[in-house]
Amino acid sequence: MEYARAGHGIIIRLDEDDEIASSILKVCKKEGVKAASVSAIGAVKSVDLSHYDSVTKEYTTKNFEGMFEITSLSGNVSRLDGEPAAHFHITLGKTDLEVFGGHLVKGIVNPTCEIFIMPIEADVSRVKDEKTGLSLLRFK
Ligand code: ZN
Repeated sequence: MEYARAGHGIIIRLDEDDEIASSILKVCKKEGVKAASVSAIGAVKSVDLSHYDSVTKEYTTKNFEGMFEITSLSGNVSRLDGEPAAHFHITLGKTDLEVFGGHLVKGIVNPTCEIFIMPIEADVSRVKDEKTGLSLLRFK
């Protein structure tokens, strides 16, 4: 992984075997980012994706192995219990150009991933919401 500050933003290049979510959080922690908008493209060889069932209030997680193009990754960084917290959704293209996607749990890069982070000056944290079962954004 390599990254650089570019004006107000941060650009990260991930290499083979880097994990996407943990790498972004590592940079945000190091750079003191409290909230940010995140987007990325690239490719992965392994991903864990989740789908949230709003009735059972449970995530179903599935692993996919193969050659997948990241056609879109978007999401945000906020705070959970004082630490940077990631919320990313990803859409992946298969070799037959069909796409699928979901809530990103883990993504192992191959061969590269290009991430743009736009920090936002905001005090945004996540707090557990009983109605939805999710940790929702809270603004101070
Ligand atoms: Zn999600």
